[in-house]
Amino acid sequence: MENKKLITILVPAYNEQDVLSMLYDRLLNLMNTVTNYDFEILFVNDGSKDNTLNIIKDLRSVDKRICYVNLSRNFGKETAMIAGLDYAKGDAVIIIDADLQDPPELIPDMIKYWEQGYDDVYAKRKSRKGETWLKKFTSKMYYKTLQSVTKIEIQKDTGDFRLLDRRCVEALKQIRESQRYTKGLFSWIGYNKKELLYDRDPRAAGQTKWNYKKLIDLSIDGITSFTTAPLRWSAIIGVLVSLAGFIYMLVIILKTIISGVDVPGYASTMVVMLFLGGIQLIFLGVIGEYLGRAFYETKHRPIYFVDTYNGEKETNLK
Ligand code: UDP
Ligand code: MG
Repeated sequence: MENKKLITILVPAYNEQDVLSMLYDRLLNLMNTVTNYDFEILFVNDGSKDNTLNIIKDLRSVDKRICYVNLSRNFGKETAMIAGLDYAKGDAVIIIDADLQDPPELIPDMIKYWEQGYDDVYAKRKSRKGETWLKKFTSKMYYKTLQSVTKIEIQKDTGDFRLLDRRCVEALKQIRESQRYTKGLFSWIGYNKKELLYDRDPRAAGQTKWNYKKLIDLSIDGITSFTTAPLRWSAIIGVLVSLAGFIYMLVIILKTIISGVDVPGYASTMVVMLFLGGIQLIFLGVIGEYLGRAFYETKHRPIYFVDTYNGEKETNLK
């Protein structure tokens, strides 16, 4: 019998005790239908505070195809994903959310395209059931803005649900940024991409871990990690504003020379001061964002620590 290729299903999980058994059932179904590959289900327990780890351990005790990386604390999904990629053994890796918002039934199609030679088969949502219009609207606007300032193509309505060939995985593993914006990295590494359309389901159980604060953080990370365009804009606007200021200065000088000193000027002084002050503060903020990023990256800290892998204590990270 020939050696089957191995496919790793990578599931980052943070406080997902309510959905794990449902997820396992769906994945089991999948593994029973797709028999020409071996599977590894790799959970990354991202410092869950509930029973997630114990449930994963129980699953592993009945099914050795289940592996798990237990991180030393909660690092966030972006970091959990790279930890998973570091530990995944498969010839291809499929990243899927634990909450069944990404239907595992799409995986056979992904595999089909992978067999045709695509390296990155990503699922693009046609609809987003169970999400508020505000979330949909903000995400749409955000992608539009991000796309307009970056040279690489950012895939719209696409999450992290995708199949990655081993060479994409190796590429992503070489990118050791600590403030990761994986959605952008997938595009950045290139390779042959193929999109698959699907309907995104509402979360099966449990609570979303995202809130607006996290979303805003992620959006700023998205921009600052992929483009320095805001710095450029600041410079351009700065030049325009000082040009206007210069012209206004000439006007005042000429007026003073021609018609003498003109005392009432409170309103114009205040307007100019407030406007310039505001612009300066905003641009300082923009510079600060980039400086902050540089600050984190120059520390060269490891991006995560692993507590246990399949129950064995880990002392080093990969
Ligand atoms: N997740 C994680 N670490 C975190 C937050 C989330 O590993 O700090 C995982 C979570 O368990 C799930 C996936 O990331 O598998 C997506 O999270 P969630 O469903 O809360 O996000 P949403 O689908 O609402 O964007
Ligand atoms: Mg979700």
